[in-house]
Amino acid sequence: MKKMPDSADWLPGVTHPGQMHHLLGILESRIQDFDQIPLPCPSMNTPSPREISRRKFIRNASLATAATWTLGGRSWAADASPPAAAPAPVKKLGVALAGLGGYSTGQLRPALQETQFCQLMGVVTRRPEVGAQWAQASGFPEKNIYNYDTMDQLAGNPDIDIVYVVTPNGLHAEHVIKAAKAGKHVICEKPMANTVAECDAMLAACREAKRTLSIGYRLHFDPYHQKMVQLAADPNFGPFTKMAGENGFTLNGDQWRIHHPLSGGGPLMDMGIYVVHAACMAANANPLAVTATEHAKTKPDVFVDVEEALDWTMEFPGGAVATCQTSYVKNFGHFHAEGAKGWIDFPSAFGYSGIRMNTSNGPVTFPPLRQQAAHMDGIAQAIMAKKDSPVPGELGRRDMVIIEGIYQAAASGKRVELKYA
Ligand code: NAD
Repeated sequence: MKKMPDSADWLPGVTHPGQMHHLLGILESRIQDFDQIPLPCPSMNTPSPREISRRKFIRNASLATAATWTLGGRSWAADASPPAAAPAPVKKLGVALAGLGGYSTGQLRPALQETQFCQLMGVVTRRPEVGAQWAQASGFPEKNIYNYDTMDQLAGNPDIDIVYVVTPNGLHAEHVIKAAKAGKHVICEKPMANTVAECDAMLAACREAKRTLSIGYRLHFDPYHQKMVQLAADPNFGPFTKMAGENGFTLNGDQWRIHHPLSGGGPLMDMGIYVVHAACMAANANPLAVTATEHAKTKPDVFVDVEEALDWTMEFPGGAVATCQTSYVKNFGHFHAEGAKGWIDFPSAFGYSGIRMNTSNGPVTFPPLRQQAAHMDGIAQAIMAKKDSPVPGELGRRDMVIIEGIYQAAASGKRVELKYA
């Protein structure tokens, strides 16, 4: 884990350590072109056995926390724990990471050193030499290195059970469909795709292959966000009727995130999606309608075909409303929800670590948790138990319906009613 500086004044605009954790998390995922960077010595990312046991204990405690949310009238459980009497797994499920960029390198590979139910067994990459470095560092055979044109050959490889697609958004559909056609379960990073139509094709491919499709919603496994869902459902505390959230960072440099074909949009697709998702979790419902306003661009030469910043609202059944903002020119990550009986406030809401939560009953604190390990283990356990994914593709599609509605509202200046079917 990263050692945080004690003082919070090392970056302008950063006023507390939680914000720094949030920023560091974002920065880790933003470092570009990791495919060109030699892998560090494997021991660099290896926590001590004591640290691993502590994290496993914390993660199991977190996975045992039951929380549910609804999607299309159906209830989805955040509790990804196995049946009480489940024996220890005989074999961990094999994961192949497709796309070895910032998120795979900085977050998923270290998390796969801690997972109990799955392990890194292969990669899909455009650079065979980088694949070979990963194979050597992680101890899987070089036959498990694929490129995007040879993904069909995954079909004959029993080492790989799950393909985790971590490529630019505009490539998710192509890569998820290839993995499903090769007979593999799939995890796809957020946002699920560039369009709802692509989501439908991905869901159909996984259905046809009889394989599960899960989304990279790591916060479903975070104890603070699970606590929010619990409090929303608690008649002595919830429901929440007013929500407000912001999420963004200052994007620098030319990268796929600002090119519409690969990104599908600007900060809404990348950072705003967390606020969309959190608002639905806090409201325990899907929004009926949205309104949106795009900010005037301060850097029109950078954000040519994607938005620079955006405000939007989400209207939920029963009159609950969420007021939201996202940006590529501002560092923030806050979420607030309140009702007649209580409120919650996350000064730092969406980071990989450093999440903080205050409530009208006082602050809430959980021990640190590697979200990505809990996320992948939760999905692996569901696959082993032949249960629905705790973060199914349908949830990713739901968020893309909302995002498409927000873009439509921003373009038209009109309130847009959302249709999920
Ligand atoms: P990145 O740019 O660091 O990595 C992208 C990877 O895709 C690179 O390895 C690149 O080589 C590969 N790639 C394959 N084909 C490509 C092509 N045609 N053009 C460009 N790159 C190509 O990006 P990232 O930050 O790792 O993001 C990847 C995905 O993960 C995105 O969908 C992003 O939204 C998601 N993500 C999720 C989180 C999270 O917290 N859940 C955090 C960061 C990123």
